[in-house]
Amino acid sequence: MLTIPRTLFSKMTRHLEAGYPYEACGILIGEVDDPTHPNNRRVHDVLLVANAWDEVNEHESRHNRYLISPDEYVKADREASKRGLDIVGVFHSHPDHPSQPSEMDRSQAWPGISYVIVSVRDGKATTAQSWLLRNERDAFEEESLVISD
Ligand SMILES: [Zn+2]
Repeated sequence: MLTIPRTLFSKMTRHLEAGYPYEACGILIGEVDDPTHPNNRRVHDVLLVANAWDEVNEHESRHNRYLISPDEYVKADREASKRGLDIVGVFHSHPDHPSQPSEMDRSQAWPGISYVIVSVRDGKATTAQSWLLRNERDAFEEESLVISD
């Protein structure tokens, strides 16, 4: 289960809507709610990150690809540690596509963190789902996503 406070969820969706019609992305930092349930995590902050795909690849495919540069992960990790937190997830948009992970998403992912995907249709965020990669790395499993007040 991944819990995101509503204000942070709004910050996320505004960033993803602003990126439309391209995929936009960011990093979620937070902590495990209860050590006996390491998969129950709470988001404490949302770091907005530029989609680096076009820096290494052709600009045109940014509508269905995202890439967070290693530098951004390092920065996010440092920011999280400073606050006694961890990177708990990554989020990105699927412009005019469902909030389900693609084969490309699976191949880039690793187990242990949440992958939140938000479907953005006509520039408006619609459904959001959170996914965990199985340890076998062969498929994602959906986890519950809670937007808290
Ligand atoms: Zn995707």
